[in-house]
Amino acid sequence: MGLMAGAALALMAVGWWRGWSLPRVLILLAALWLLVLALLLIVPALAAQAGLGADPRVWAVGGLLLAGASGYGALIGRARIAAHRRWGAGQIAPPGQPQTVHDTSPASDDALERYARHIVLREIGGPGQQMLRKARVLIVGAGGIGSPVALYLAGAGVGHLTLADDDDVSISNLQRQILFRTRDAGRAKVDAAVETLRALNPLIEVTALPRRLGAEDAEVMRGFDLVLEGTDSFASRKGVARACVAAGVPLIAGAIAQWEGQVTIYDPNAGTPCLDCLFPDAPAPGLALSCAEAGVAGPLPGVIGSIMALEAIKAITGAGQGLRGQMLIFDGLWGETRRIALQRRADCAVCGGIPA
Ligand SMILES: [Zn+2]
Repeated sequence: MGLMAGAALALMAVGWWRGWSLPRVLILLAALWLLVLALLLIVPALAAQAGLGADPRVWAVGGLLLAGASGYGALIGRARIAAHRRWGAGQIAPPGQPQTVHDTSPASDDALERYARHIVLREIGGPGQQMLRKARVLIVGAGGIGSPVALYLAGAGVGHLTLADDDDVSISNLQRQILFRTRDAGRAKVDAAVETLRALNPLIEVTALPRRLGAEDAEVMRGFDLVLEGTDSFASRKGVARACVAAGVPLIAGAIAQWEGQVTIYDPNAGTPCLDCLFPDAPAPGLALSCAEAGVAGPLPGVIGSIMALEAIKAITGAGQGLRGQMLIFDGLWGETRRIALQRRADCAVCGGIPA
């Protein structure tokens, strides 16, 4: 018996030293046990001489019990690892929590690896990644701002992305609209964009809405948890903002001109102003020029759109403090940022009726 224990220990020590896998060590231990059993049955005298004088039945029963126990342990361990993986991929509730969501969408080892850098973030983790996957987000405008917004939100695994734009790609867009390539010139922006986003992340659903949205589209907005807007005309921005107020959906809005940009979250239902509170009147003709008229530094919409995508991820997962009631202003020419507090106007024609 002592000799057998010594041989088993020696085997395990060699295995540890040589870096053998656990199954390999277990197979060798089982082979040793079979050898002893065979010796006891075939040449009992030799076995007795070698100090293995126990009854073969004791060896057989003991060995089977040990094998059963280690098999059961391995099964439990595998089940727990699988549960943690499914939790990380957002398929099931965290271990120990009641299972309330049953979702069979394609979440897998691919999802776990794809979102690994989010899952290790304390503020996002497995539960936050699950919230991103369930989120329904509308991006209005597939231009300089919409490009980084769409790319980052697709990469982040926002599960249902819709992109609205009625424009075609032109060569002058490529200086800043990073969703597109030269070969896309002349194509509908939403078509080229959807192709790029699906290639970036096949695990999400991307929908094209090939039209311009306006104030009359509250019903469209109601289908979303969050809207992000970065269009190039004041009338468009105002229409989208009014539709969002009517639908009760928060709006992350970004705007750029030449070297400067701004980002805020309009959400009157959360007590913050709407766009009409800040800009009740359209600017005088010639005062708010479009990018085509005034020019714009290529990376500027990248900065503003990236901040908007970051705000969207925070808003969906509840991480940190969002820009509700605050406007972030970025001056690219001087490398400065500042934040100003925004107030709701009690007599606002658009959101005045919503309780403060
Ligand atoms: Zn308002």
